Amino acid sequence: MSGNPEPPARVSDAEPESFEECTNEVDSLRERLRLVQFELEQCEGALWQLSQLFHRVGLPIVIADTEGCITDLNAEAEERWGKPRSERIGGRLHDLVPADRHAILDEMLTRCRTGERVNDVERRLWDRPRDVRSTWMALSPMRDQHGAVTGVVLAEDPRELKATGRLLETVNEELRSLALVDGLTQLANRRRFERAYEREFGRAARQREWLSLMMIDVDYFKDFNDALGHAAGDACLSAVAQSLAIIARRPGDLVARYGGEEFVVILPSTDARGALGIAERARAAVLANRTRHPASKVSEFVTVSIGVASARVHPALSADRLRTAADACLYDAKREGRNRVRSVMVASEPKDSREAADDAESRGADGPHSA
Ligand code: GH3
Ligand code: MG
Ligand code: MG
Repeated sequence: MSGNPEPPARVSDAEPESFEECTNEVDSLRERLRLVQFELEQCEGALWQLSQLFHRVGLPIVIADTEGCITDLNAEAEERWGKPRSERIGGRLHDLVPADRHAILDEMLTRCRTGERVNDVERRLWDRPRDVRSTWMALSPMRDQHGAVTGVVLAEDPRELKATGRLLETVNEELRSLALVDGLTQLANRRRFERAYEREFGRAARQREWLSLMMIDVDYFKDFNDALGHAAGDACLSAVAQSLAIIARRPGDLVARYGGEEFVVILPSTDARGALGIAERARAAVLANRTRHPASKVSEFVTVSIGVASARVHPALSADRLRTAADACLYDAKREGRNRVRSVMVASEPKDSREAADDAESRGADGPHSA
């Protein structure tokens, strides 16, 4: 053996010394095995966590090879595409996509194989913009530890989710604005009126400025509907609304549909005299439409009655006072025959608290005015 050019095998010299060496080796092997076992346990733990994450992430994820053959999918994807994991594995990504999107998917796969993450909006696989729950998918390359692309991951694209979120915000904004416009007449609706009235009243009070409020009601409108039908009634309301919108068009004026066949106009910085003039023009404009009203007792055409209240607003005056005063005038106009305007000037700022208590409307002083 001495002439053997090969290094001597350790076992061959295994005398007591070698035996000890052997024992040491076994001990160190045991130690390494223990470490490997520990690392393996750690890996198993990490894998378990990853698989939990994969299945519970709440987004559908499908893993496939570079040809699009499905190798795994998570619980959300099972539910989304309605088949158990066992039946999907081995199938194709194409089975998840509408047939008219197969060409897009093929192109995405090709780009993904070169390492590109394909997620731009143009590459939508599911284009259902009207479905709020609809999302778009991204295809990402999956790489091994050396960087080679070994598969693809199909997952809901979070960037698209953000885009969907932004879209929803825009839609919500539109809805909010829609909620301030009356659908039939396109005038401001009651809600918008309430906001504007509060704002304008507050401003007028701070500046001790004039504010006028006009309440308008179509005469014998129930009879109009009964005679000509609801559709004709709707058209009539639209025509009245247009006439009113043309009359009150100073910046700050707001014409709104108060409800049913009632309208309201806010006239900021407008005194009693000015408001009366506008009200009279509004009444005349509706009549000038010459919309036939076969059931009216006051005219052969559609007419309106109008109540106007004006005040130089001050902090002691409540917004309700002005509104009630306008309403009372409208009632007067109806009672006195319809197709007319009644107006009132609400008392000016009281000089002391006693006057404040007596601060009754001076409907006799400034009005009512008859058209
Ligand atoms: P008055 O001269 O005293 O105001 O009598 P009127 O018939 O106009 O008043 P009343 O309050 O009795 O009837 C209002 C009618 O307006 C009843 C309702 O059917 C009708 N109306 C309310 N909103 C609409 C609507 O949006 N379209 C149509 N076509 N009719 C409406
Ligand atoms: Mg009414
Ligand atoms: Mg009416």
